[in-house]
Amino acid sequence: MKLEKIKLSGFKSFVDATTIPIHSNLTAIVGPNGCGKSNIIDAVRWVMGESSAKHLRGGNMTDVIFNGSSERKPVSTASVELVFNNTERKLGGEYAQYDSIAIKRQVSRDGQSLFMLNGTRCRRKDITDLFLGTGLGSRSYAIIEQGMISRIVEAKPEELRTYIEEAAGVSKYKERRSETETR
Ligand code: ATP
Ligand code: MG
Repeated sequence: MKLEKIKLSGFKSFVDATTIPIHSNLTAIVGPNGCGKSNIIDAVRWVMGESSAKHLRGGNMTDVIFNGSSERKPVSTASVELVFNNTERKLGGEYAQYDSIAIKRQVSRDGQSLFMLNGTRCRRKDITDLFLGTGLGSRSYAIIEQGMISRIVEAKPEELRTYIEEAAGVSKYKERRSETETR
């Protein structure tokens, strides 16, 4: 499944609506310190359901909203949308009918968070379920951040197993089993 577009608005330093097209298989984001490179990665992780403000380098969840600069007033909402190409039907089941999958998250200053899947409001869980077993996801190995390699190398066997189960596509079945068992 290929990520085609990242759309941001009011998210951290991206105050104006910005679309980042991803044209090729290898894309590099370059720029001076503090220009917003890591904010883009935070945005990707956030829209995929990250619920820890610390993992997004903030104190609380509304810190992702643009909070003003010397020239611009703060804004009231932040939103991020990812558009994936699904023409190869990497996402099957109920999603197999869609050539394009768009996931979106929006948050307002009162802390209200909203998730959308192809234009329809959904739960956070619908988004995280979508990526289970694909290797994508807010905490998955698709995003390798500073310090993560050493965490994997030093991981306890149980922690290592979660990465292997995700890579093998087992995690979504484990998740469904534990849901069934707790019902
Ligand atoms: P480096 O090369 O040092 O890693 P970077 O390009 O990764 O830099 P980021 O960490 O993405 O930079 O961006 C940091 C900038 O984002 C800072 O200038 C900070 O003020 C700004 N920023 C972060 N959160 C917000 C916010 N909520 N509102 C406005 N600006 C923000
Ligand atoms: Mg950075």
